[in-house]
Amino acid sequence: MKIVKALKAKSILKYILPVIIVVILFSIWHFQRKIITVTKTRLVLGTVVEITVQGKNRGLLSDAVSAAFLRISEIEKIADRNTVDSEISKLNSLAMLGESKKIPVSRETLEMLNLARGVSESSGGAFDITVAPLVDLWNFKEGGQNRRIPEKGEIRERLKFVDYRNVIIDKSDNSISSDLAGIKLDLGGIAKGYAVDEAVLVLRGFGVESGVVNAGGDMAIIGNKVGGSPWVIGVQDPRDANKLIALLSLEDVSVVTSGDYERYFIHNEKRYHHIIDPNTGYPSNESISVTVIVKNTAKNKAKNTALADALATAIFVLGPEKGLELAESIDSVEVLIVGPSGKTFATKGVIDIIEYLD
Ligand code: AMP
Ligand code: MG
Repeated sequence: MKIVKALKAKSILKYILPVIIVVILFSIWHFQRKIITVTKTRLVLGTVVEITVQGKNRGLLSDAVSAAFLRISEIEKIADRNTVDSEISKLNSLAMLGESKKIPVSRETLEMLNLARGVSESSGGAFDITVAPLVDLWNFKEGGQNRRIPEKGEIRERLKFVDYRNVIIDKSDNSISSDLAGIKLDLGGIAKGYAVDEAVLVLRGFGVESGVVNAGGDMAIIGNKVGGSPWVIGVQDPRDANKLIALLSLEDVSVVTSGDYERYFIHNEKRYHHIIDPNTGYPSNESISVTVIVKNTAKNKAKNTALADALATAIFVLGPEKGLELAESIDSVEVLIVGPSGKTFATKGVIDIIEYLD
């Protein structure tokens, strides 16, 4: 009796096993097939913004990306001082009044100003959003015809308006004010990063767990690639747009590069570019490029791309020695600096995620 039962079970298994195997193989194939990557590119924030997301539901991914782009445009409308009716333009056209009159600002502007303030303080003023009068004088705007070197006197004159401490932020009633008439704000060193953070919030709200938001070099990496491998990001050779100097293997981080090759002109063999040293009023020659990585930890989920953005600009101005010191002093922050001579410098943690290329 027992033998008959065993034989029966064996023959059933003979038929069922192939079916089980086929079902397993089909499930694996079906699961892998269902991983979809959606990539969309738009011109926003004065740059090319690319959003890539991975998941299983194409419709949802597509809606998530569209909503993220909408959010980026909203931030542009608030923070871009080249847009006439942006909030920052309105603040600037009031020239901050110089009468200590309080001007109410949006939650977003307040948040950017607060973040900027923190980086200004930790960098000893190397990052300073009141640098706008100098940015206008140098005029590195794309297509700008003014390719002359400003006179020393002009620079001295404008430096009088540059000091972040002249902006008074009042969190209790969401307002800002200043005693200094003529002060002007430029969020160009932080707004792209902030917009990327806001886009990530929207994507996460849609349930996206894997993706990259890249606003012209200001990037947020969401999670891993589906399947578990890290996203690999190239660091551009600052003197050759077609070459990479390193690869970074990244998961759940923000990574932002500031470089002297983004907006510049050469005059008498000297390079003049868009990152101004608020101390001297001249473009900083302390670095060639700076890549800041801010890891997303449970504690600091907040505005990490905005922080990386501002830190990249600040560390550029500080140069390798002080820049490394600043980065090492902040938890979850790593930096790769190409110094003035082309030599690279990096914080200790970079070794785990970098592959240098020749
Ligand atoms: P980024 O490309 O992020 O390094 O930012 C450069 C932009 O920030 C410039 O185009 C200016 O609009 C503005 N900027 C230039 N120098 C500074 C500075 N020292 N601190 C803050 N913002 C700056
Ligand atoms: Mg920046």
